Amino acid sequence: MIQIDLTGQVAVVTGGSSGIGLATAELFLRAGASVAICGRDSERLGEAQAALSAKHPGAQLLAQRCDVLDADQVNAFAQAVQERFGRTDMLVNNAGQGRVSTFADTSDDAWREELDLKYFGVIRPTRAFLPMLCDTGGAGRNAAIVNVNSLLALQPEPHMVATSSARAGLLSLTKSLAVEFAPQRIRVNSILIGIVESGQWRRRYATQAEPGQSWEDWTGELARKKNIPLGRFGRPEEAAQALFYLATPLSSYTTGSHIDVSGGVARHV
Ligand code: NDP
Repeated sequence: MIQIDLTGQVAVVTGGSSGIGLATAELFLRAGASVAICGRDSERLGEAQAALSAKHPGAQLLAQRCDVLDADQVNAFAQAVQERFGRTDMLVNNAGQGRVSTFADTSDDAWREELDLKYFGVIRPTRAFLPMLCDTGGAGRNAAIVNVNSLLALQPEPHMVATSSARAGLLSLTKSLAVEFAPQRIRVNSILIGIVESGQWRRRYATQAEPGQSWEDWTGELARKKNIPLGRFGRPEEAAQALFYLATPLSSYTTGSHIDVSGGVARHV
């Protein structure tokens, strides 16, 4: 892997206490960056903080309870980052989860909840961290936002109707922000993931697998059913590597774009 030194830079990862977010925080720490993560569940956050600190003793790490849908909590998180590190160079909008439902079984409230999560889970942290990102970009350094999005944005699935629709909106929003923030030298990109092994899939395994069925068998069977050309789920670190690339100067001439991390599931050319 290409080495890059991020010493002195600050990366913020929402939903950094599990799965893709946790793997991304780890990559930033490994490259020498100071890192701030957030999540709603204090216990999970504490476990993530302990695991990251054990791997990177002496790391500059801030872990704060924050629901990205609560404007006050998001502002308090940004304030804490400002006080502890004094700047933000990279923001990864990752917090969230998918919703499995067809049009027939999605209520108005469920639609609102899903649109709220997918839009405001990005809008609120972006707004709160924007002044710090503007300072960084304005000073001629790397400033970047990367949104974790799904291949559903381009390839909707009827069994995830609300998520697919919201994901398409987020792809559009990412493009708009890239153009609006370009004069401030803030790049904005996203990754489109297919299926990545993570907390939400572990929870589905716990409720949906046959008694005695192993995680490998269950995911392998699903990969076959879903016709994933690479024949397996992605790993959190594989999504994290794409996020890392888009957040750092490795992708300094890329904005308003996305990377497909779906194992070949995309059908379009
Ligand atoms: P995980 O469940 O492992 O991690 C989700 C993280 O987000 C946790 O840290 C969770 O902590 C946090 N989180 C969730 N909701 C909020 C919230 N409202 N405010 C703050 N933190 C929150 O899942 P993944 O790693 O798979 O998910 C990461 C992103 O990738 C999500 O946006 C998901 O929708 C997206 N994605 C994942 C796919 C996959 O196959 N894994 C496919 C397509 C998209 P806590 O619950 O404590 O708040």
